[in-house]
Amino acid sequence: MADQIFPFSGISSVAVHAGHEQDPNYAHLTPIYASSTYVFDDAEQGMRRFTGEDKGYIYSRWGNPTMTEAEDKISALETFGIADAAGAPLQVRTIVHASGMAALTTLMLGNLKTGDKILTHFSLYGGTQELVEKVLPPLGISAIVADLRDLNIAEAALKADPAIRMLYLETPANPTIQCVDIEALTQLGRQYNLIIAVDNTFATPWLQQPFAYGVDYVFHSTTKFLNGHGTAIGGALAGRDVEKMNTHMTKWHRLLGGNSNPFDAFLLVQGMRTLDVRMERHCHNAMEVAAWLEHHPAVAKVNYLGLTSHPDHETALKQMRHPGAMMSFELKGGLEAGKKFIDGLRMCVRAVSLGTCDTLVCHPASMTHFGVPREKREQYGIGDGLIRLSVGIENVADIVHDFDAALHS
Ligand SMILES: *Cc1c(COP(=O)(O)O)cnc(C)c1O
Repeated sequence: MADQIFPFSGISSVAVHAGHEQDPNYAHLTPIYASSTYVFDDAEQGMRRFTGEDKGYIYSRWGNPTMTEAEDKISALETFGIADAAGAPLQVRTIVHASGMAALTTLMLGNLKTGDKILTHFSLYGGTQELVEKVLPPLGISAIVADLRDLNIAEAALKADPAIRMLYLETPANPTIQCVDIEALTQLGRQYNLIIAVDNTFATPWLQQPFAYGVDYVFHSTTKFLNGHGTAIGGALAGRDVEKMNTHMTKWHRLLGGNSNPFDAFLLVQGMRTLDVRMERHCHNAMEVAAWLEHHPAVAKVNYLGLTSHPDHETALKQMRHPGAMMSFELKGGLEAGKKFIDGLRMCVRAVSLGTCDTLVCHPASMTHFGVPREKREQYGIGDGLIRLSVGIENVADIVHDFDAALHS
């Protein structure tokens, strides 16, 4: 994929080095610039900073050197190996945020207005679902939720409703790890002049680069695999229209106030430097765990993209470098078995969230989806005995051993 036009031969070098600029004091790592404001030599320089002629910083809600490094690293990872129409490396602009939800807010409010609609798949992150169902409707922005794995359904929705302005894709998605076809849906969305955004949180740019298909925005909860160690909440919005990102979207970001901070950005940068080696291990372990679970007598079903039994196996193979590290499985014993399994774990961690070095296990029926009526849960594929799992980078034998003991407890 990469040729001479890209400065690095592979994504590991990008993860380690991209975005870094020599610190004026020769610190090896870009320090945590814990400063809310920046000094002007004189009024003239202050003016030049405000016009953008002088690249210096002004105020940390607007930008900060530690945050800039995180932003530029994400841009480089999301575009590595992708050329623009002229054959040059694709340029995008990323803005880091206080959380994934803050980045989503900038995305939605910066692009949609009263009367606009969003077309999206029915399997969404809980916070995203509540945002589009509760926060946006009073502003006159609503969502049409459909099974976008079926292109005919997507096209019928678009034909029926000219108010649809944005196509919002989350793939793979919680908790049954469904995938939608980014390329096919982007082609369709283009015909209807839609803004196309992809939540790339579960995949990371290591597994999947939506900009390769021409999408407008890539969104991340950096809290997950990009940070990788569970040390900070954060979000990122990367946009292909650099001019719009630098003007309109920057304005909205600054005024909505969901800025990141230098400490979290520092943690994010250090986490991303090891993305390649972590993802390799995460993915290798996940494949082994899935294969082991599939043959366990207490397990009714395993939802993992690497298994041919997963309905979206083909879509995943088409757009992802590997089936990834996220999976879920259904225990035959239902609710009680689910709780017992969770309680029996000794090394793997009982927690929501995902993408950390350690294996995180949650039981949606008693945790994230406790408040959702069973009927509705089951519609989304969340049975009483469903266990969601983010496979960590421990020695895989220890993960399997922990699971085996918990299943026998
Ligand atoms: C966690 C998550 C979010 C929300 O991000 P926060 O960092 O928690 O605000 C959005 N989408 C997906 C897929 C997530 O996993």
